[in-house]
Amino acid sequence: MANALTMDTLVSLCKRRGFVFQSSEIYGGLASAWDYGPLGVELKKNIQEFWWKEMTRVHENIVGIDAAIMMHPRVWEASGHVENFTDPLVDCKKCKQRFREDKIPQENAAAKKCPECNGELTDSRKFNLMFKTFMGPVEDGGNLVYLRPETAQGIYVNFKNVVQTSRVKVPFGIAQVGKAFRNEITTKNFIFRTCEFEQLEMQYFVAPGEDDEWFEFWKKARWDYYKKLGVRHSKLRFHQHGPGELAHYAKVAFDIEYEFPMGWQELEGIHNRTDYDLARHSEFSGKDQSYLDEETKKKYIPYVVETSAGLTRTVLAVLSDAYEEQEVEAGDTRVVMHFHPAIAPVKLGVFPLVKKDGLAELAQNIEKDLREDFTTFYDHGGAIGRRYRRQDEVGTPYCITIDYQTKEDNTVTLRYRDSMEQVRVKVAEIPEFIRKADKEYRREE
Ligand code: ATP
Repeated sequence: MANALTMDTLVSLCKRRGFVFQSSEIYGGLASAWDYGPLGVELKKNIQEFWWKEMTRVHENIVGIDAAIMMHPRVWEASGHVENFTDPLVDCKKCKQRFREDKIPQENAAAKKCPECNGELTDSRKFNLMFKTFMGPVEDGGNLVYLRPETAQGIYVNFKNVVQTSRVKVPFGIAQVGKAFRNEITTKNFIFRTCEFEQLEMQYFVAPGEDDEWFEFWKKARWDYYKKLGVRHSKLRFHQHGPGELAHYAKVAFDIEYEFPMGWQELEGIHNRTDYDLARHSEFSGKDQSYLDEETKKKYIPYVVETSAGLTRTVLAVLSDAYEEQEVEAGDTRVVMHFHPAIAPVKLGVFPLVKKDGLAELAQNIEKDLREDFTTFYDHGGAIGRRYRRQDEVGTPYCITIDYQTKEDNTVTLRYRDSMEQVRVKVAEIPEFIRKADKEYRREE
C-alpha cells in the first residue's frame, strides 16, 4: 500500500510505543524539546553505533574524540559563529509570530506580508543562534560561554593534539558524536528541528589541492551509508548549495535530503570547509595549526572535508522510512516498521505459544540465554497473532515461538517481520541463524 505517512501518525506511534515523548509533558511540555523513551533510546544508540563503526572502525585513518560542550569563547570568534551564525528574523506586527525570512514563501518575504495572517512584517534583523550562559558564580560578560552550535570546533581545536598523539598522517579524519544547541526561531515537525540535538560529524584533513577529490569520495561514501542503514535511496537526493546558501566557511556544499512526511529536507551536509577553520584558529590563538608532511617536508594548513549528519534527525528519517501500513488480507492491515535489523531497537521477540505446561518457563530460559547476543523481548500476553503484530509495530525483525514440539526436539518457529514467513530453527542455532539473516537483509525500494 502507498505510504501516505503523516507526521501526526508518526508522533502518535512514537508516543504510544515509547520511542519519543514530549519533554516535561506533565507541565504542559517544552516547545521543541523531546525525550527518547525505552525503544527510542535503543534506536538512537544503534544508529550512533552504526555510524561510529562506519566512520571510524572500518577506516585505519579515522579516529574519534569526545570534546566538551562548553569551550573557550574565543573559539566562536575564531570560527566566525559570533559574527555570522545568524538567521534573518522577521516578526509579524499583527499576530506577533516570528519567522525565519529565508523559510517563508518568497512572495511573503518580498511583500513583507505574514504567511499566517497577512499582517505586516518587520524589517529582517540578524538573530544569533548560539545559546549563551555564564560559567562561575558571576553573571557578567567576562564569564560568558556558549553552548556549542556544532561539534566540529571541538575537533579543530584538538587537531594538533591528535596529530601528536595518534600517529595519523594527512589524509586522515577525526569523528565525534555529541550534543549541539541552536536557538532556532521556528521549531516544528517533531524531532526534525530542535534547539538541543545531536550531531554525527567527521572532519577529514587533506592536503590543499586534493580537497575536490576527497569531497567526491565522501559525497559518495555518505550516500552509500544510508543504503546500508536501511534507508531507501528513492527517498534520498542531493541538493547543491547555491552561492547565497553557502555557510560562511564553505567553498562547496551538498546536502543529502530525505523526503520526510512534510517534504524534502536536509538530513546531512557535506562541506568543503577549506583551511578556513584551522587558519582562523592559528590566527586567533597565536598557535600555528599547520601540518608538516614528513615525506615532502612541505608545511601547510590542511583543507577539511566535513560530513555532518544529525543523529536525532536521522532517527526521524529512519522512523519515517520504516513505517508501512500494510494490507495483509482484505480488511486486515498491520503497521510494520521495517527497521534494518542492525538498528532495530528489539532484535528478537520470544513467545511461548501458551503459558501452561512449562512452555512459559522454557521460553524464559531460552530468552535469558539469548540476551547475551541480542536485545530480546519476552511476551506471553494474548493471542500469538496479536503478539506478532505488536512486535511488527516496533520493528522487531524476528520473533520465535516456543511450542510443544520444542520440548521434543529443541526447535522453535522463527518468524520474519517483513515477509511473515515462518521457519523451524534449532534453539542452539538461533544466534548464528540471525546473524546470517541480518547480513542478507534487503529492504525493498
Ligand atoms: P538548517 O539550514 O536546516 O538550519 P544547517 O544547514 O544549518 O540546517 P548544518 O549546520 O549543516 O545544518 O548541520 C548539520 C546537520 O545537523 C544537519 O544536516 C542536520 O541533520 C543537523 N541539524 C542542524 N540543525 C539542527 C536542529 N536544529 N535540529 C536537529 N538537527 C539539526
